[in-house]
Amino acid sequence: MSASDMKTSVEDPVCRTTFDVADAAAQEEHEGWAYFFCSIECRQKFIRQPAKFASKPTIIAHKTRRSRARSKAGQP
Ligand SMILES: [Zn+2]
Repeated sequence: MSASDMKTSVEDPVCRTTFDVADAAAQEEHEGWAYFFCSIECRQKFIRQPAKFASKPTIIAHKTRRSRARSKAGQP
């Protein structure tokens, strides 16, 4: 098991897009939680109305490996 298998998915609290934390375009901290955004625009919206979007922490660690890795292996 290599470190590259450990992916952390986060949800953009503004547009609800889920993406890998490594692909986040922007990051912001609010009340001790880290929020990640798909774009600068989403971060700007969050900063203007943090209470509207920060109803729940968005950092979600998906450490369970999904079976879709099978297609990547290329074995029948
Ligand atoms: Zn977004």
